[in-house]
Amino acid sequence: MTSGSGTLYIVATPIGNLGDISSRALEILASVDLIAAEDTRRTRKLLTRFGIKCGMVAYFRGREASRGAGIIARLEAGEDVALVSDAGTPGISDPGWFLVDRALAAGIRVVPVPGPCALAAMVSVAGFPGPEFFFLGFPPTRKKARADLFSSCCALPCELVFYESPRRIVATLADIAAIMGDRRVAVGRELTKLNEEVIRAPVREAMAMLAARPAVKGELVVVVERASARPRPEREDIVRRLEELRETGTTMKDAVAAIRKETGAPRREIYAEALSVWGEAGN
Ligand code: SAM
Repeated sequence: MTSGSGTLYIVATPIGNLGDISSRALEILASVDLIAAEDTRRTRKLLTRFGIKCGMVAYFRGREASRGAGIIARLEAGEDVALVSDAGTPGISDPGWFLVDRALAAGIRVVPVPGPCALAAMVSVAGFPGPEFFFLGFPPTRKKARADLFSSCCALPCELVFYESPRRIVATLADIAAIMGDRRVAVGRELTKLNEEVIRAPVREAMAMLAARPAVKGELVVVVERASARPRPEREDIVRRLEELRETGTTMKDAVAAIRKETGAPRREIYAEALSVWGEAGN
């Protein structure tokens, strides 16, 4: 620990309901020399609501290195700094991890001030047996990379949890249905906010419910039921997945093996569908 340097507090803030702030978080925010905030306007509202006055610096994605260097310099000069993200716990799917990494490398004391976290809130109400889960952060936005990620973890013996944008949720749920079969999912939207909603349904039903809306709005966390409880994939899901793999240049043999691994469906059933998919492609 560098003697004379300050402390970096990693402070969780509400993901919607301001009443979820902890009394310790308020004490720390009121006592530090500087608050590094992902969104200073949003944090200003929080501080105003609780009558806290403190200098702020913006620390956000894309400016981690330059903003981080200034924050580390102030810590090294002996000031205490609180890091807060847009909402929830800094360092989980946001730029907070980078500042923590730099602070630790500089020998600065890093202290957690735990509290709200979208991941924890959703897992706590999902209603799957658990207790293990695997957190994927935000899945890749590119379809091929996303499908590869889901394929690589679809046989894991635990629930899968991820954050997703409302613009991509329907496409992502379609990928899950194609790769993992019609597993149950829980989709949490706007947790702790006025329009809080949790959809618990087989993935195709959840997808249809969301696709029927003019637009999906708000922030989302998804939990996908673990592999061991999976039902058999539907024929059309196998065909769709075969077509996707054929389009990416996978051989028929490899595609059959991949889908067998992903879904657990009998090889002969997958093979029969593959013959028509590859046959229709003229290969
Ligand atoms: N570090 C934060 C945490 O773990 O709580 C999350 C930061 S990440 C940049 C933001 C994502 O968290 C959103 O896009 C959404 O997927 C999820 N999220 C945040 N607040 C939420 C809420 N109230 N309800 C559902 N999901 C939420």
